[in-house]
Amino acid sequence: MSERPDRTRPGTLSDSSLAVHGGIQLDSTLALRTPLVMANSYQLPDDPSEISWSANAPGLYTRNTGVNQQALQEKLAALDDGEDAVALASGVAALHAVFFTYVHAGDHVVVSDVTYEATWRLWSELLPQRYGIEATFVDITDHDAVRAAMRPNTRLVCVETIANPTTQVTDVAAIAAIAHEAGAILMVDSTYTPPPVYRPLRDGADLVVHSLSKYVNGHGDAMAGAVVGSRALIDPIKADAMIDVGGIISPFNAWQIQRGSVTLPMRMRQHSESAQAIAELLDADPRVAYVSYPGLPSHPQHELAVRQFGRSFSGMMSFAVDGDPDTQNRFVANLRLITSGFSLGHDDSLIVHTGTEGGRVAAYPEPFRRLGHLRLSVGLEDTADLLADLRAALDETFA
Ligand SMILES: *Cc1c(COP(=O)(O)O)cnc(C)c1O
Repeated sequence: MSERPDRTRPGTLSDSSLAVHGGIQLDSTLALRTPLVMANSYQLPDDPSEISWSANAPGLYTRNTGVNQQALQEKLAALDDGEDAVALASGVAALHAVFFTYVHAGDHVVVSDVTYEATWRLWSELLPQRYGIEATFVDITDHDAVRAAMRPNTRLVCVETIANPTTQVTDVAAIAAIAHEAGAILMVDSTYTPPPVYRPLRDGADLVVHSLSKYVNGHGDAMAGAVVGSRALIDPIKADAMIDVGGIISPFNAWQIQRGSVTLPMRMRQHSESAQAIAELLDADPRVAYVSYPGLPSHPQHELAVRQFGRSFSGMMSFAVDGDPDTQNRFVANLRLITSGFSLGHDDSLIVHTGTEGGRVAAYPEPFRRLGHLRLSVGLEDTADLLADLRAALDETFA
């Protein structure tokens, strides 16, 4: 690899410049883009006896690291204000990598009671039953309850910045203080709030997890996840969960996500702006039963959201129209521009109707439990077109 001038001057660039220039690795062709290197093995020196096969070193084997993975990790670390990052095959693989590396038999964890489905299942069933780890689910907005849940063997506190799908907001600085006082580390799933919307490490989080499948890639055509943090905390995840468990990101996905992430700061501005307008439209419509969006003054943690995120609250909201589950389905069917589909953070707007079933629903706020919810991921279509689509679908549903 040839030398390139240092154009990024660590610490001096703003979000959009970092998203464009961060982590680029040039090769001897001097192509201005990181090449896609699909090799899974590299030529070794004449005497390979000194090489450690479990080292997180480039130029060995792609499960240990590769050019495209390295480039993506460096950019993610720079964007989130971390020292290092590890990219893995999915967001869930990233969550599991943290749990596997830092929580062992006999340990205890404290987990938000409104948390992503896979996190819920890992801590309510799989890890406790198979590995003898105890988990306590708590209302993360009740700081006394969080403090009371901490035990001498609590290793990890596990929260989401804005919870999927309830949009409950975690006070990261307050929870970090409680976790650290008890000698535990704080892991924050920041999938709903990628940089520049929020950087949990600045508020005391120890590890930040992203599903890169969502906003960071942004185009719905690749799956991956990442953990960002200090080198001291990321190194063991690479050594244990990446190299020896092996849920690595493919070079192609890393290359594609690095490209997608170039526009992350611009996209987040647009997602947030449209979402705010849509949340206000829905909130003002009597045919809508409730809207949960941190940018609305009616949101229970709106003040905290403003303090923590500033003026943009990302593109995710949950709501229900007035009526039974069939009415929710009819409303979704009446949408033309907004598509019914899982996932979130894509360029196209996605909506998914979820009912009132499932163990974790018990901790959801009242209207979620009674009516179910429509989770809307506001895309990059024109704001006025999105507003018109929602208005027209409401008109047709309630005609
Ligand atoms: C989607 C999602 C995940 C899991 O990510 P995958 O890439 O689908 O494995 C984790 N946390 C949150 C908050 C998510 O929305």
